[in-house]
Amino acid sequence: MAAPRAEVVIDLDKLRHNVSVLAGHAPAARTMVVVKADGYGHGAVEVARAALEAGATWLGACSLAEALVLRAAGVRAPVLAWLDPVGTDYAPGVEAGVDLSVSSARQLAEVAEAARAVGRRAAIHLKIDTGLSRNGCPAHEWGALVEKAAATPEVEVRAVWSHLACADEIGHPATDAQAARFADACGEAVAAGLDPMRHIANSAAVLTRPDLHFDLVRPGIAVYGLNPVPVPVDLRPVMTFRSSVAAVKRIAAGDAVSYGFTWTAPADTTVALVPVGYADGVPRALSNRMDVWLGGRRRPVVGRVCMDQLVVDCGDDLVVEGDEVVLFGSGEHGEPTAREWADRTGTIDYEIVTGMYRPRVTRTYR
Ligand SMILES: *Cc1c(COP(=O)(O)O)cnc(C)c1O
Repeated sequence: MAAPRAEVVIDLDKLRHNVSVLAGHAPAARTMVVVKADGYGHGAVEVARAALEAGATWLGACSLAEALVLRAAGVRAPVLAWLDPVGTDYAPGVEAGVDLSVSSARQLAEVAEAARAVGRRAAIHLKIDTGLSRNGCPAHEWGALVEKAAATPEVEVRAVWSHLACADEIGHPATDAQAARFADACGEAVAAGLDPMRHIANSAAVLTRPDLHFDLVRPGIAVYGLNPVPVPVDLRPVMTFRSSVAAVKRIAAGDAVSYGFTWTAPADTTVALVPVGYADGVPRALSNRMDVWLGGRRRPVVGRVCMDQLVVDCGDDLVVEGDEVVLFGSGEHGEPTAREWADRTGTIDYEIVTGMYRPRVTRTYR
């Protein structure tokens, strides 16, 4: 079997472990595992199946198209889809029993029309904007939206929900302010005769705000083993990004490496060529600023990260063609992590793992 060129290995046992840890944090609520963006780069269908085996009962997708991918794969669990452009045909969603988030009267009308066309009621979750100023109904339109939804026979209001802005900063006052607005919005829905479920908790709130678990929690990043809050929790990173050594050579003191000659060997040394680059998700900004795990230890990447390749300084150690190279992984052996890449490039680990969803990178499951 050929050594891998660019491969992410997804450990579904770790994912199942993480789901059961998170469900255990919110024992009175049901768990919706968020699988948007192809499961944060881990594969939505495989993640969905593993999460349901581990105790999740709901799935969350961003677009209706993402939800329908799950249905097409035979996933029958409740799925919520929350953001689609104006003019979307919701009929295939209603037909497939996908729950739809509704944030405006315009969208309510679109969903009701789809339900009429299909001849089946649409299950909707009314979304209130409690302060994120993003998706969701503004507070001043909420009363009218709730009344209208209650009076629309084509829809069944299954939930009222919202999303938190600052839950990853423990004690941030915005979270309490959002919780208060959420309570008001739920109260208005009940006053309009509705009896909805309530949900607002992302991963950070699952881990730090039990008072906000309500009927359903919606963890995303923590399912993939990446902890958004500085609280110790036994979460295990699910994704490992690996490659292999494609060539080994000795270079002499004074020889330079890769485009622009940004690194020059201070002494004779052995360098290993690894056939992955920025087209495979290795940020070029990490040139001369990252390590890989190779031959049982960390070794520095020297010179520029190119589109398709990078070079590792191995000193006088024995490294041979075909040796495994771990770009990032769980960190349990000392290998770099997605968090480390994020910290060094000014982003968050969400963006690193989600960015591994690309055609040049093979995905395998363990
Ligand atoms: C992405 C997302 C989540 C999950 O957030 P995490 O921080 O990854 O846990 C939950 N709800 C909504 C609406 C989202 O868009």
